[in-house]
Amino acid sequence: MLQQTKDLLKTNYKLKDETLDLYERAIKDVEGQFKMYDEIREFNQLKVLKAFQQERISDAHFTNSSGYGYDDIGRDSLDKVYARIFNAEAAIVRPHFVNGTHAIGAALFGNLRPGDKLLCVSGKPYDTLHSIIGISGDEKIGSLKEYGINYGQVDLTEKGKFDFEKIKEALEDGSIKIVHIQRSTGYGWRNSFLVSEIGEVISYIKNLRKDVNVFVDNCYGEFIDVIEPTDVGADIIAGSLIKNIGGGIAPAGGYIVGKEELVKQAAYRLTIPGIGGECGATFGLMRTLFQGLFLAPHVSMEAVKGAIFCSRIMELAGFEVLPKFDDKRSDIIQAIKFGKEDLVVDFCKGIQYGSPIDSYVQCEPWEMPGYKDKIIMAAGAFVQGSSIELSADAPIREPYIAYLQGGLTFDHAKIGILIALNKVLG
Ligand SMILES: *Cc1c(COP(=O)(O)O)cnc(C)c1O
Repeated sequence: MLQQTKDLLKTNYKLKDETLDLYERAIKDVEGQFKMYDEIREFNQLKVLKAFQQERISDAHFTNSSGYGYDDIGRDSLDKVYARIFNAEAAIVRPHFVNGTHAIGAALFGNLRPGDKLLCVSGKPYDTLHSIIGISGDEKIGSLKEYGINYGQVDLTEKGKFDFEKIKEALEDGSIKIVHIQRSTGYGWRNSFLVSEIGEVISYIKNLRKDVNVFVDNCYGEFIDVIEPTDVGADIIAGSLIKNIGGGIAPAGGYIVGKEELVKQAAYRLTIPGIGGECGATFGLMRTLFQGLFLAPHVSMEAVKGAIFCSRIMELAGFEVLPKFDDKRSDIIQAIKFGKEDLVVDFCKGIQYGSPIDSYVQCEPWEMPGYKDKIIMAAGAFVQGSSIELSADAPIREPYIAYLQGGLTFDHAKIGILIALNKVLG
């Protein structure tokens, strides 16, 4: 770090010598980790480039459709580019998905029928899925449960791995039609699942039950490995465009990729039976969705580097972290256990303070739709709530874990984390 940088950090953000010392130690330790991720990034950039070229993407695809949006070639070609990247039959990529939860919900609702059962094999799924499934109270909001679609769950082993024996037992229920796997940690304390691990459990499941479809919640996982869940047998996956795959450029949206028939059924839920993906004006957003996708392999790895740096410096500062800086990652999330409410709140406030947007805002814990506990969210982002941008959030519950993710540039991630740590150090 240049002396000028240190001086500016000290004068502007009152960075203590202790924080800067920790920085020097952490940065030395993490640099050796980066080569592997740089190589993955390079491969994924090539994969994306090739897909653009094979679909002959041109200026004409940056369409500005209106009304029904029939024959929007930009929209239709982006679907094909995604399908190629994911080595899948079909894709539906739309700004009309309001978030990742919506895309996941469409995939599930579209492919389950009354009497069917959904089985989650990676433990309790991400908080916002509870309302979709109907496991968070009995409000009449049209959950899967209300439509007569049942739910089963196999918890992970103590080590946070798939419980193969229990999965086998659960699969004896012939009404199971979809098995759900969550790649990323969510608000849990476990490592994300490597795509190879997801592949192993999928093979195991398919060996026992050829008739079930496997769905993977791929949120935060895109481009962290050279393969994706669809490369190892997942039938349908979904994710958010304001995480990795939007590259920080996509202003909103979600995607579903997988087998043609399953994607079609999901599209009937995004819009309506009979219409599916054939309609949907894109309001001039196509350029941003293409450009974001093109940048996504790079931006995702900037975020990974930020997470690795965060892991090491917070560990050196005395906090328990997951994953460790040298663990192999499958998502961009870094969890830090603070143990105390005031520390987790300070950390999030520090990330907010280090943001390009709304840096003067004090974030506070509050009730959020889809979540049970109060949540504090630090998000000074160009795109509201974008978590490929540097952000941190924490449910206000023991043991007070903050989840940090994103960083459009590694430099900004480093600076933001330094400011947050400095605040925690008091
Ligand atoms: C972010 C996320 C989702 C979807 O969240 P949205 O905020 O609706 O985009 C679902 N599952 C996991 C594991 C996630 O990280």
